[in-house]
Amino acid sequence: MENLLKELQYIKGVGPKRNQDLQKLDVHNIFDLLWFLPRAYFNRANLSAIRDLPLDTSVNLQARVLSTAHNRTNRGFHIFKARLEDNTGVITAVWFNQPFLANVIKSGQEILVTGKVDSRYRDLQLHVSAYEILDDDTIEFNIVPVYPLSGSLNQKNLRKMMHFVLQNYLADYPEILSPDIRNKYGLIDIHTALQHIHFPESAETYLQARKRLAFEELLLFQLSLDKYHTQGQPAENCAIHREKTDLYRQLRLKLPFVLTDDQDKVLQEISADMESDRVMNRLLQGDVGAGKTVVAALAMAKAVASGYQAALMAPTEILAQQHFEAIQKFFAGSEVVIACLTGGTPLAERRLILQATLSGEINILLGTHALIQEQVEFNNLGLVIIDEQHRFGVRQRAMLSQKGENPDVLVMTATPIPRTLALTAYGDLDLSVIHKLPPGRKAVKTRYLSRSSRNQAYDFARQLIKLGQQAYVVCPLVEESEKQDLQAAITLYEELRNSIYAEFSVGLIYGRMKTGEKEMIMQRFKSGEIQVLVSTTVIEVGVDVPNASVIIIEHAERFGLSQLHQLRGRVGRGSHQSYCILLADARTEEAKRRLKAMEKSNDGFELANEDLAIRGPGDFWGVRQHGLQDLKIASLIRDIDLIRLSIEIAGHLKPEYIQSPIMDLYIKNKFKQSNEIARN
Ligand code: ADP
Ligand code: MG
Repeated sequence: MENLLKELQYIKGVGPKRNQDLQKLDVHNIFDLLWFLPRAYFNRANLSAIRDLPLDTSVNLQARVLSTAHNRTNRGFHIFKARLEDNTGVITAVWFNQPFLANVIKSGQEILVTGKVDSRYRDLQLHVSAYEILDDDTIEFNIVPVYPLSGSLNQKNLRKMMHFVLQNYLADYPEILSPDIRNKYGLIDIHTALQHIHFPESAETYLQARKRLAFEELLLFQLSLDKYHTQGQPAENCAIHREKTDLYRQLRLKLPFVLTDDQDKVLQEISADMESDRVMNRLLQGDVGAGKTVVAALAMAKAVASGYQAALMAPTEILAQQHFEAIQKFFAGSEVVIACLTGGTPLAERRLILQATLSGEINILLGTHALIQEQVEFNNLGLVIIDEQHRFGVRQRAMLSQKGENPDVLVMTATPIPRTLALTAYGDLDLSVIHKLPPGRKAVKTRYLSRSSRNQAYDFARQLIKLGQQAYVVCPLVEESEKQDLQAAITLYEELRNSIYAEFSVGLIYGRMKTGEKEMIMQRFKSGEIQVLVSTTVIEVGVDVPNASVIIIEHAERFGLSQLHQLRGRVGRGSHQSYCILLADARTEEAKRRLKAMEKSNDGFELANEDLAIRGPGDFWGVRQHGLQDLKIASLIRDIDLIRLSIEIAGHLKPEYIQSPIMDLYIKNKFKQSNEIARN
C-alpha cells in the first residue's frame, strides 16, 4: 500500500524531467498515475473509410499525410491543417491552437486520427481530437490509450510507464469490495478494472472497467463526506436554540402572506435542526423567487429569540444591501438590532459595527465577504446563513462558522441542482427544497429571436415601459479580452440612451463599478426613476424589483442554461405578466437547444437536467467526461444507478474501509482540487 505513494521519479523510464512534466498533469505518485486515465482510445479494429465518413460523429481513421499548412487568423488563433488520404478518398484534418504541430506532423507519415467531420462548412473538415503518428511500435495493439500530454511526454513513453506500473504495483492496490458485493452488483475486481481501463482488450472489457472505476470513484467520494466520519456524534458546545421570547411567533403571525406548504415544511426541518444538539448543516434549495428570504429571516428570529447572534453572508454588495433592507423591514417594530458590513462600509461606521458585534449588542449582522475578515468577532454566534452558496467556496463557509462555537449553518441556493448532483456534490449537507413558487405568480413568457430582430424586441419592451413598467437589458461582458466579440455594456448603454430609448431614463450598472455608485443606481431603479437598466451579469442573483417586467438578454448564446434561468428570474416577481427576450445568433446545435429549452420551460430543475443532458455524456471512443469537476470517470447522467449504489454501500461499509489509507489518498487529492475551485 505505501508503495502507491512512491514518487515517480524513481520509476523505470521516468527520471527528473518526465517527473516534472507528470507533476504538471497533477500526477505525483503511483496512485495518481494509475488514476491518470486515457482521454480517448484508438480502436484500430474500428476504422472508417474517408469516403464514408458520417457527419458530426466521432470517427477513427488511418491515413497518409499528403501535405500540411499552418495559418494564423487575424484574431491570433493558430490553425494547423493536414490533407489526409486513404484508399477511398481525401479529407482535410484541422487542429486548433497547436502551433507546434508543424514540427510533428509531416507529409509522408502514416497517421491515426480521431475526430468529427464538421457539417457547417462547404468543404468537409475533420476536427481532430486525438492523433497518433504510426510507427512499428504502435502496430502491436488493436486498442491503444491516448493520454493527456505535457512537455516531453508522448503517448509512447506514457504507455510504457503505465505498463510497468501496472505490472509491478497493481498488487499493492487495495480492494474495498468483497467478492460477495462484487458478484451481487456485477462489478469486476479493482485490479482487472485498472488494467483494462488503460489497456482494454475489447469494448466489453473497457465497459466493465469503466463501470467498476466509476463506482470506485463515487464510493470514495461518498466515504470522504464528513457524515460517515462524524455520524451520530453530537458536537460539544454546539448551538442549541431554545426560544426565550415570543419574537419568532410574533413575527410569524405578522407576515403579510401565508407561507406556502413547502416553506412551512423547510422551516420545520430547520427548526428541528436548530433545537437539536447536532450542528445543522443544511442546504436550502429553491428556485428564484421561491421565497427563501423569509425562511432565512424566520430562522434568524428563532436564533435571536434563543439568545444567539445570527450572520448572513451574501456574494455581492447589492445583495447584502437588499437583504439588509428586507430584514430590517421584517424585524420592524421589534428591538432586534441589525447591521450590514461590506467592503464599502465607511471606517467610522465599521469600527462601531465591529464593537457592537463583539459586545453582542448587534443581534444580526449581514454582509459580504467582509464578514469573514479576522477583525470580525461575535459574542455568541449561533446561526450562520450563506446566500447563493455557489458563489462561495467550502472554505469561506467554514471561515464564517468558525467565528462561533459550532453554530448551525444554513446555505441557500437558487441554482437548481439535479438530484444526482446534490447527492454527490452536496452529500455532506442535509437537503431542504422549496419546490413550488408562492401562488399567483405568472410564468415568464420567453422568446428567442435572432439578433436581426433586435428592433422588434426593443419595440416590444417599449410598450411595457410606456405602461410604467421597467426593463433590464443584459449584456455578457464588459472590459474583458473578448470585448471585440461582444457588444460591451457601455456601448449598448450609449446606444439605448441616445437613440433606441432616448425618451426614457436609462441607467448602467456593471461588476467593477464602485460600491456606492452601484447602490445608488440600484436604488434609483427600485424607485422607478431609472426605467431601463443596462447591466452585465451583476444582477444575476437575487435582485428583487417587482415592477420590472421585461428582460432582454443580448448575445444569449453566450450564457449557460442555468445562468439564463437565473437572469430570467429578475422578472416575474410582481403582478405584471413578464417577458424574457433572448437575442442570439446561435451557431451551434447546443446553443439552439439551450435557447429552445428556455422557451419551453420555466422550471429550474427541469432546465438543470436538460443542461446536463445537452452537455451530455461523451461518446464511447472519444471519452470526454462531464459532470463534477473532480470526477475523473463517473458521469452524473449515465451513472445514476451507480450513485445510488455507492450511497447504499457507503452506509453499510465496515469502518476500517472508511479509515483505509486509500481514503486518505483520495481525500488529499480531492481537497487539492476543491481548494483550487474555492480560490477561483
Ligand atoms: P428567493 O427565494 O429568490 O430569495 P424571495 O425570498 O426574494 O425569493 O421571495 C420573492 C418574493 O416572494 C418576495 O417579494 C417575497 O416577499 C415574496 N414571497 C415569499 N413568500 C411568499 C408567500 N408565501 N406568499 C406570497 N409571496 C411570498
Ligand atoms: Mg434570494
